[in-house]
Amino acid sequence: MKNIYSYTPEELEALMIEIGEPKYRASQIFSQLHKGILLSEMTNVGKKTKEKLCGVVDAALPSIKRKLVSQIDGTVKYLFELSDKNCIESVVMKYEHGYTICVSSQVGCRMGCKFCASTLAGRVRDLEAGEMIGQVLAANRDLGIRISNIVMMGIGEPLDNFDNSVKFLRLANHESGVNIGYRHISLSTCGVVSGIYKLAELDLPITLSISLHAPDDETRSEIMPVNRRWGVSELLCACRDYYKKTGRRLSFEYTLISGKNDSRALAEKLAQVLNSSLRTKTETMPIHVNLIPVNEVGETGFKPADKRGIKDFAATLEMRGIRATVRRKLGSDINASCGQLRREDAEG
Ligand code: SAH
Repeated sequence: MKNIYSYTPEELEALMIEIGEPKYRASQIFSQLHKGILLSEMTNVGKKTKEKLCGVVDAALPSIKRKLVSQIDGTVKYLFELSDKNCIESVVMKYEHGYTICVSSQVGCRMGCKFCASTLAGRVRDLEAGEMIGQVLAANRDLGIRISNIVMMGIGEPLDNFDNSVKFLRLANHESGVNIGYRHISLSTCGVVSGIYKLAELDLPITLSISLHAPDDETRSEIMPVNRRWGVSELLCACRDYYKKTGRRLSFEYTLISGKNDSRALAEKLAQVLNSSLRTKTETMPIHVNLIPVNEVGETGFKPADKRGIKDFAATLEMRGIRATVRRKLGSDINASCGQLRREDAEG
């Protein structure tokens, strides 16, 4: 059964009509659901209506199977169980400007990035939009907070689950829902170029984040199989198009792996490639690179670059006009990066 949180108010109206209930109830139900009130808890919806609805939709939020709280910075990591018993992860981080959630978009992932824990066992299935918004609502409910920022950087590749991910963006932005502005939402992709073009067409003012991790095809294809389908130059072409269409600045993620992609020569190459593909003499698109020391994932054998190497890499980029920041690591004591808890759980 389809999850009730996947329905827009208009779709809920159609559903109410289908089950012979008054359609004006739909918008009430939508706004209560998205405030975190469960269908079973609603006092202004009759028992009969609830029963009828539960006959045609799944009204459950993801349930908390495990919850880890960082003693260092309060970051919370959830292992959520879905109605079919599959598990996903979400992470809630507290920043000065509010709470940010990192949501998953698929159960597993089929992109095969060599350093990533989420993809080791492949993709099981796509998440429905309602299972994505459900992560936000379940966390809001559990913590008694109002999450104000979303990053689609959890398990899965959002552009490999395009329609559901876009529907999730629209639901999250809905004014009767959690009402989070598009400017407070980022979507991260490993470089599904066809999806980047499709997303640009929709012209949603979200931030697009590209997991680049290498500036040349040889290195990138070695660690990210998606690069064999769409190479670095094709990817950057799509980025340029995205910026031209939407006017939204992109950001690049670069995970530093010792001895793999962290040399000064590659930093120089990265700056050169970004500058030549994205900038012209008259157009100086702002470019931002987030440097992240790779998290060690048991099976991969990759080691993070050392502190000096990272600083050096950042300085090389800055010297060539590329803003680079080293990502602050939150929740390091709870292994807050996604993919690892679900794996642990599956291994029992
Ligand atoms: N599929 C999307 C979003 C999920 S991954 C994407 O690839 O962007 C979110 C980010 O975490 C990506 O930048 C990804 O490359 C990075 N990542 C995955 N495993 C990592 C690891 N072991 N260490 C550091 N970053 C990692």
